[in-house]
Amino acid sequence: MINHARQRGATYAFNTEYLRHEEDKNGVTVFLKDHLTQHEYSVRTKYLIGADGANSKVLQNAGLSVQGELARAGTVYTLFEADLSQYTAHRPSILYWICSPDAAFGEIGFGLLRAIKPWNQWIAGWGFNIKDGDPDLSDEEVIKKIRTLVGDPNLEIKILNKSTWYVNQAYAHQYSTDRVFCAGDAVHRHPPSSGLGLNTCVQDAFNLAWKLSYVLKGYADQRLLQSFSLERAPVGKQIVLRANQSRLDYAPLQKVFRIPGAENPIAAGIKNFRDPSPKGVEARLAAQKALELKQYEFNAQGVEMNQRYESNAVINETEPEVWKRDKDLYLQATTRPGAKIPHAWLINRKGYKLSTLDIVGKGDFTLITGLSGQLWVQAAKKLNLSFLQIRVIGSLEYQDPYCEWQQRREIQENGVLLVRPDGFIAWRVMQADGFSVQQAQTQLENAFTQLLSS
Ligand SMILES: Cc1cc2nc3c(=O)[nH]c(=O)nc-3n(C[C@H](O)[C@H](O)[C@H](O)COP(=O)(O)OP(=O)(O)OC[C@H]3O[C@@H](n4cnc5c(N)ncnc54)[C@H](O)[C@@H]3O)c2cc1C
Repeated sequence: MINHARQRGATYAFNTEYLRHEEDKNGVTVFLKDHLTQHEYSVRTKYLIGADGANSKVLQNAGLSVQGELARAGTVYTLFEADLSQYTAHRPSILYWICSPDAAFGEIGFGLLRAIKPWNQWIAGWGFNIKDGDPDLSDEEVIKKIRTLVGDPNLEIKILNKSTWYVNQAYAHQYSTDRVFCAGDAVHRHPPSSGLGLNTCVQDAFNLAWKLSYVLKGYADQRLLQSFSLERAPVGKQIVLRANQSRLDYAPLQKVFRIPGAENPIAAGIKNFRDPSPKGVEARLAAQKALELKQYEFNAQGVEMNQRYESNAVINETEPEVWKRDKDLYLQATTRPGAKIPHAWLINRKGYKLSTLDIVGKGDFTLITGLSGQLWVQAAKKLNLSFLQIRVIGSLEYQDPYCEWQQRREIQENGVLLVRPDGFIAWRVMQADGFSVQQAQTQLENAFTQLLSS
C-alpha cells in the first residue's frame, strides 16, 4: 500500500505524532512532532483525515465524539509459538473455542485459540473481570493457561506478546466537519466478534477517497463530502451493535455448558450431553439452538453486504426495499441505487471469467447498459467526461453466456446503471423504450449534476 501510494505522490512522515489542528474556511493547519528529532512543526492542508484509531485525538480536537459504553469487559490476548499441528490435523480451523472443565477461567467461561501462522503461531484469548483490576500477565500464569486451553501440560511455548483489550460499544453520529474527516476505529469501536473491524475501516477509506479526489480534481463540488458521514455513520452504528450482540449471543451457549451450583459446573454441563435421560435431550436441543444463533456471527453475509446508502451522492428511489430473507444472514443482490453492484460472472473476449465487481471502479464512474442500450453509449460519449467509463454487457468484451447478469440486473436490457468509483450504484433507469439519444443525454447530465454539484 505504501509503495502504491508513493507512486501516486503520497509522502510519509513516520515517527511523527499528530498533536492538534486548527480548521478555518480555507484549510487546516496541523501541528506535528517528529519523535526522532523532537522537532515540532506545522503543515497547511486542504483536508485532514483522522484515521488514528480507537483513541483518536483528531476526532476529539475536531469537536466530534463517539457515544456509548467503553470498556464493557476485558480480554487477554497473547501471541505465542507452539506446534499444535497434532491437535489440528483432523479439524483444521482458523479459530477454536475451547470449553473444558479446566479451562473455564475468565468472565466468558470459554477460551479461544486463533491460528496466526498455521500451525505454529497462535493467539490465545480469555476474558477477565475488569472489576478485579489488571489480570496476572506473568509468563508463568500465561503459559499455564495456554497449556490448559490446549489440554497439554507439557506443551513447549514461546510467548511473543501479551496484551489486554477492552470491549467497547461506541460509535460517532457525525464523522466530519467541513474539512476534517474521521474514519476507522476512530468512529466505530466494538469487539472483534463477527470480524467487522478492519473491513469496515477499509470501506470508510474507500468511501472517502474517491470523493476527496473528485473534489480536489474539480470534478465535484465540496458538498459531495457531506455524503461521507451520511453514508458511513449508519453503517458504523450497525456494525458496532452487531458485533456487541454477537458477543452477547454466547450466553445461551455458555448456559448449556454450565450447570450452576455443581462442583465443577463445566464438567457437569458436558456430562449432560451424554445423558440419555430427558435432561440430556433438553441439553442437546439447547446446544443446537444456541449454535444456530451463532450463524449471525459466522455466516452473516447480509450484515456487510446489505449496506445501503442514502445521501446526496445517490439518487435514491422512493419505494422502500422489500427484504425477502433475513437481512443479516443473506445477501440481497440488487441494483437499487445505494446498494453495491451485484456480482455476476462475465466472459471477456479472450474467454476469461471476470466479475461485474471488477469492471467498475479504478477511480471512475461506470455506465452499464446492455446491447440494446446503445443510446446510453452515444449519450455518454457526447458528455465526454474523463471520469466516466462505459460497459456494454452482452458485447464481446463483457459476455453474459450464463445469463447471470440478466437474472440479477433488475433493469431492462436497454436500461442503465451509473456506478460510483466505490462500486455503489448511484442511479438507474429501468428501461429506455422510446427514448432519444438527446433524452438519454439530458437524463445523464441531470444525474451527474445532482450527484456531483451543489
Ligand atoms: C484483538 C483484536 C482482534 C481483532 N480482530 C479482527 C478481525 O478478526 N477482523 C477484523 O476485520 N478486524 C479485527 N480487529 C479490528 C481491527 O484490527 C481494527 O478495526 C483496525 O485495525 C482499525 O484500523 P484503524 O486504521 O482505524 O486504526 P488502527 O489500526 O488503530 O491505526 C491507527 C494508527 O494511528 C496511529 N496513531 C494514533 N494516534 C496518533 C497520533 N496522535 N499521531 C500519530 N499517529 C497516531 C496509531 O499508532 C496507529 O498506527 C481486531 C482488533 C482487535 C483489538
